[in-house]
Amino acid sequence: MAEDKLTKIVSLCRRRGFVFGGSEIYGGLSSIWDYGPLGAKLKKKIKDIWWDTYVNKREDIVGLDSSIIMHEDVFRASGHLEGFADSLVDCPTCKKRARIDKLEKIQDNLYQCPECKAKIDTLKNKPRKFNLMLKTNMSATEDKPYYGYLRPETAQGIFTNFSNVLDTTHKKIPLGIAQIGKAFRNEVTTGSFIFRMKEFEQMEIEYFVKPATADEFYHIWVSERFNFYTEKIGLRKDNLRLREHAKDELAHYAKSCTDIEYNFPFGWSELEGIANRGNFDLSEHSRVSKKDLSYFDDESKEKIIPFVIEPSAGVDRTFFAIISDAYHEEDVKGKLRVVLKLKPNMAPYALAIFPLLKNRPELVELAKNIFYDIKDKFPALYDDSGAIGKLYRRQDEIGTPFCVTVDVESLTDHKVTIRDRDSMQQERIDVTKIKSFIEERTKA
Ligand code: ATP
Repeated sequence: MAEDKLTKIVSLCRRRGFVFGGSEIYGGLSSIWDYGPLGAKLKKKIKDIWWDTYVNKREDIVGLDSSIIMHEDVFRASGHLEGFADSLVDCPTCKKRARIDKLEKIQDNLYQCPECKAKIDTLKNKPRKFNLMLKTNMSATEDKPYYGYLRPETAQGIFTNFSNVLDTTHKKIPLGIAQIGKAFRNEVTTGSFIFRMKEFEQMEIEYFVKPATADEFYHIWVSERFNFYTEKIGLRKDNLRLREHAKDELAHYAKSCTDIEYNFPFGWSELEGIANRGNFDLSEHSRVSKKDLSYFDDESKEKIIPFVIEPSAGVDRTFFAIISDAYHEEDVKGKLRVVLKLKPNMAPYALAIFPLLKNRPELVELAKNIFYDIKDKFPALYDDSGAIGKLYRRQDEIGTPFCVTVDVESLTDHKVTIRDRDSMQQERIDVTKIKSFIEERTKA
């Protein structure tokens, strides 16, 4: 059933133009996906809401847009060159390659294959390390290559610009630096649609604080980020949970870490990680770059290396969670209705406008006039390319919360029929009331 839901979601995303396979006409590329017209809209909404919440509305957070390709030494300092690797093991029975940390452990050295359920003995099938960094030759000549690295997280650009931001903004800590951007990992275990991609997008904040306050801010950020998903994005609370990492699971530098997990069609998995990273990053970049990245604390009159709390979210996983949460199937008079019950402010279109009969020019003209009048205020769509039932079905599948139909009576009574996506209830309202009707119901 769960597998079934995943297949249905992938198919809906394809069919309606949310997500396509990357380089599809050439056979595709494993774990690379493209966002179609509706996917691009939804993705932008996710990023806009995040940016607006943290950068536009808060005085203690500023934004940044640093480059994707970075100097090799950045990743020497961050530990990625040495340690950013997955331990992978091949199942001797079905040959499926899996990450050892994601396998079910039966006993010491014995794990269960997630695919065929056979036992994997890691003394016989030794795990191998695969580094996840992608590098690119930046030299003009092939014979003298020099390499830049595609960042595996947006965070490192924040650390390398820490002093630049402080010097130019004159801000004091606690201070957050927020960034949205692409990140790249040469993931070896692939599949699961846009959950695990080689090229993906992150929304990260590095929130710099005095060491003594780090634990308090860590807890504040865990609840802040959990509430963001329920209140701003509209995910169902019972599909979200917090999972605190056990001490032996933490990265060596992390003081504590909590994952926000979502109940994806294939089970509970990480949507976002919130970590107290101590002062590891700034200390290491100071050490390797030989630049002083300390902060002068006015109160104690001392130089300190701030601690950092990092809420690190994935745009693509948020996208996936939104579609998964919204996907509903209903039986309507013996027929299957597929509907995306998106929070109205998240829907790619707030409303769609149709003429009931497309061979009546007066209806087409009135419907188009309504569309032109409304489209600058709300994302709206005009469609006359099918029978009304088909048009409704199309809008249900892309989550448009309201459909407006112009019929013959509209010409005389200046009213239209407005249909609610979820209840399918229809009511007639005055043409002049459409904007206020939509405004009230699509508020964030
Ligand atoms: P996982 O254990 O699932 O590989 P991670 O712990 O390596 O994830 P982080 O390094 O904490 O992930 O990255 C922060 C966030 O970035 C994740 O919570 C996720 O939303 C997103 N992310 C990480 N890797 C990928 C990927 N390969 N594809 C899509 N999103 C990703």
